Amino acid sequence: METNTTICAIATSPGNGAIAVIRLSGKDAVSITDNLFNSPSGKQLSKQAPNTIHFGSFQINDKIIDEVLVSLFKAPYSYTGEDVIEISCHGSVYVQQKILQTLTENGAILAQPGEFTLRAFLNGKMDLSQAEAVADLIASESEAAHKMAMNQMRGGFSAEIGKLRSQLLHFCSLLELELDFSEEDVEFADRAGLKKLVLDIHLVIKHLTDSFSLGNVIKTGVPVAIVGKPNVGKSTLLNTLLQEEKALVSEIPGTTRDSIEDVISILGIQFRFIDTAGIRYTKDTIESMGIERTFAKINQASVVLLLADVSCSKDEIMQQIEELKLSNNQHLIVIINKIDLYDESEVELRLGGKKAFAPHPVLFLSAKHHLHTDKLHELLLESVQFKNLNSSDVVVSNTRHYEALKNALEASGRASSGLGSNLPSDLIAQDIREILHYLGQITGEITTDEILGNIFKNFCIGK
Ligand code: GDP
Repeated sequence: METNTTICAIATSPGNGAIAVIRLSGKDAVSITDNLFNSPSGKQLSKQAPNTIHFGSFQINDKIIDEVLVSLFKAPYSYTGEDVIEISCHGSVYVQQKILQTLTENGAILAQPGEFTLRAFLNGKMDLSQAEAVADLIASESEAAHKMAMNQMRGGFSAEIGKLRSQLLHFCSLLELELDFSEEDVEFADRAGLKKLVLDIHLVIKHLTDSFSLGNVIKTGVPVAIVGKPNVGKSTLLNTLLQEEKALVSEIPGTTRDSIEDVISILGIQFRFIDTAGIRYTKDTIESMGIERTFAKINQASVVLLLADVSCSKDEIMQQIEELKLSNNQHLIVIINKIDLYDESEVELRLGGKKAFAPHPVLFLSAKHHLHTDKLHELLLESVQFKNLNSSDVVVSNTRHYEALKNALEASGRASSGLGSNLPSDLIAQDIREILHYLGQITGEITTDEILGNIFKNFCIGK
């Protein structure tokens, strides 16, 4: 990978803005800028102290392109670990392009997507999972996604993985030593200690792997479907949920919900209502849409809200639950709507109480009159097992990490049972090397150009 060059890119979003930032990184970043920057006092950037900001004009020969502020960072104390210059100019597209073009005519080359962060990784400023968190942070759309990315970027996840690796490395080297002395039948690695460690590590990896389902929904939102017979109040319920959300969001000046229709956010988790109009669960609709297409839609949902109204019998609802044919990892919440029309306790008694559809929870509410709709929020949160995320909680949200952890989990399971049945050291050492390998893939101790290429191609340019 070529890192001898000096790269440049616009770091702010494309288009007009109040200001824009153009970034350079590499050994010639300062000298290239010096040739084009004119300070009123005639100072040269190369002679200035690091971490300072300088006012002046950006000019091509005598032609002033813009008045700018130049931030100066010197290797290794910068984002990339190289000399870095950030030029803050006015946000005209013309100015931005002109500055960028001039920088490239003076020796800088255009950066590839994510190249600044790639250089930060290659220069040891952050490990791979932290670098990936930078992309997640930029893409985060909710409080929970932001918290999770922030924690990963600040190294919470890496520290957890690093701790496991270093404990194992110690034992692995002792096992390797035993193999060198295999003729003599010695045991350097204390088997009881190793057994306990491998089991502990297996449990931690299991915990991390399990957190992926939560991490994934935090990142992408939870798909929810509302199904039920006509007129039970599906549209009313959806509108009520969205209106309550709108009322909340519109308290923040300048926010609009137009672009995020059919998404509600509860404690920072986004619940996305998938094309609800298309999956009204009725005999007629199934016939007209085709059974397969309807069920394919329902299958996409992690949470299904089965809506019935107070006039439905328990048997009818049971039959509808059966017909839904939900898989084990889908959550069903049974909702009895229009509770305002009857006495709640009577309806509850007739349908068999709060446990009537166990293990599925049942909720009695009125969508139209906003009765108990807040309880639906609680049930939705419970369905994704969301506990209040602390910024120190390690939650896996990246598919690449999840795959590596699953492999590490398998290897640690094998090592653990191998130690239990006194398998020969060379087989155990092999499994432990595998655990180390997969954990190392996450933080980037073990990596290939292909892995790096795949990760950074998804970054935006200028990051
Ligand atoms: P959908 O066909 O399942 O989408 O049902 P709608 O949302 O269109 O509602 C059908 C009718 O039930 C409408 O007249 C609603 O005003 C009414 N409705 C919905 N929710 C309630 C409720 O909680 N209480 C009462 N009394 N009526 C409701």
